[in-house]
Amino acid sequence: MQKTVYFIEGDGIGPEVWAAGRPVIDAAVAKAYGGERRLEWVQLLAGEKAFAETGQYLPQATMDALRGAELAMKGPLTTPVGKGFRSLNVTLRQTLDLYACIRPVRHFEGVESPVKRPEAVDMVVFRENTEDVYAGIEFASGSPEAKRLIAFLRDELGADVDPAAGVGVKPITERCSKRLVRKAIRFAVDAGRPSVTLVHKGNIMKYTEGAFRAWGYEVAADEFADNVMTEDEAATGGKPVIIKDRIADAMFQNALMYPEQYSVLATTNLNGDYLSDALAAQVGGLGLAPGVNMGDTLAFFEPTHGTAPTIAGKDKANPGSLILSGAMMLEHAGMPEAAALIHAAMDRVISSRRVTVDLASQIADAQTVGCKAFGELLGENL
Ligand code: NAD
Repeated sequence: MQKTVYFIEGDGIGPEVWAAGRPVIDAAVAKAYGGERRLEWVQLLAGEKAFAETGQYLPQATMDALRGAELAMKGPLTTPVGKGFRSLNVTLRQTLDLYACIRPVRHFEGVESPVKRPEAVDMVVFRENTEDVYAGIEFASGSPEAKRLIAFLRDELGADVDPAAGVGVKPITERCSKRLVRKAIRFAVDAGRPSVTLVHKGNIMKYTEGAFRAWGYEVAADEFADNVMTEDEAATGGKPVIIKDRIADAMFQNALMYPEQYSVLATTNLNGDYLSDALAAQVGGLGLAPGVNMGDTLAFFEPTHGTAPTIAGKDKANPGSLILSGAMMLEHAGMPEAAALIHAAMDRVISSRRVTVDLASQIADAQTVGCKAFGELLGENL
């Protein structure tokens, strides 16, 4: 079996984390399947490399290839400043309708954490990627638009809004909420995860956040009745996945106090933004966090860090986030044995305390190694 993976090298530290990371991903596949399965890597141009070669940051050929693709991976891309250009990442996400931002969070032994039991955290956050504040509309306090909107709200709808307020609108739809929750439940069922928690602020915002919760339960009941039960039904048991919901502020408390009770989280855009970063910090920082933006056909994996311009080209970058994104990709592509080899190698190398400089500051008595050497250590430990 051969799987085609389209890849974008990315800017800044992109080339060096790929050079260190791709051999590890290939070696894990070779070791797990002895040549019976392999990845075919096809490079696509985007970012500064694309601009240098084609005069465009996001060439049409790249978009055409991605539209027909199932698997892709990218390094970080610089947002060209002051060129009248939207972020390339936002353009890719919106144009390809990558509506679920998925971030797994777990602890690596030896990495310093601000909490007592970081090893109890094993969660996967499904964050809605297209609406809520991402599609938010805002008008500044005192602007003609804000005045008109407030006048409409007061005069036509009887709402009591201070005429001096800045105002914002956050749209949340049934279609986008349901497709996100559907993906989260599908994942939980397929991966043998015990629960899906809908995280929302529905006690305050009933028709956006509260509706997200209601639509989430509807998907569970209508489409996953054989596999999913509510917390009330769980008393009598019988189905593998529990669907529950938590108000966002309680979720933050629970993530700290009872992390073992949570597995898959499905949430709206802004809640998901806070939660994925807070959980990553809980297990020891953002440095190793992998991620994927997923639509109905394309899964686009990427490290969660940026281009780190100050260390680019210095062999200091940590390729771990890219390599763990590769492991996620292997799981998604039906090669979980190869992914498991990468996770075990990461555990072994971090436990040996030979790590890149960013992790060295979080691990007692660590020995600092370069980007290339860290990749080689992972390869040797597969
Ligand atoms: P950044 O993630 O590039 O850097 C933040 C800090 O973390 C810096 O100190 C950096 O040196 C360090 N760091 C980041 N990745 C590292 C790694 N793999 N190993 C070791 N240290 C690492 O964030 P930033 O400085 O806010 O952004 C720089 C550029 O990256 C901007 O142009 C921004 O638009 C872009 N960016 C792109 C993406 C993406 O493509 N997904 C994400 C975030 C930022």
